[in-house]
Amino acid sequence: MIYTFNVTDHFSCTTSNNIYYIQCSNCNQLYIGENDHCLGDGIRDHLNEIPKKDLSKPVFRHFNSYNHSVSNFVAFGVSVINGGNDYRKTEEMGFIHALGALNPHGIMNVSRSI
Ligand SMILES: [Zn+2]
Repeated sequence: MIYTFNVTDHFSCTTSNNIYYIQCSNCNQLYIGENDHCLGDGIRDHLNEIPKKDLSKPVFRHFNSYNHSVSNFVAFGVSVINGGNDYRKTEEMGFIHALGALNPHGIMNVSRSI
């Protein structure tokens, strides 16, 4: 399933307090994340999970599954949050459910993991 939504905020790698989106270019499944520091650092942390072989990490499991590789990893900013940690996490959960980022249709576990 392909999801459509408009991103109206502007991002750079140093944009803080954000929600970001990781998509698999092979099967279009999604992962939604949030962080209070640089967007580039948050995405890089997930990208660095792929070669570490940590089965507890859903991003690792997805991009190491059959017919997948790190070359399928696509990421970008979704929203800049004007609020604190609780507000950002609430907004993240809204995106996770609205965009279908949970298993089995998305990359994320039902019980939240990073
Ligand atoms: Zn995939």
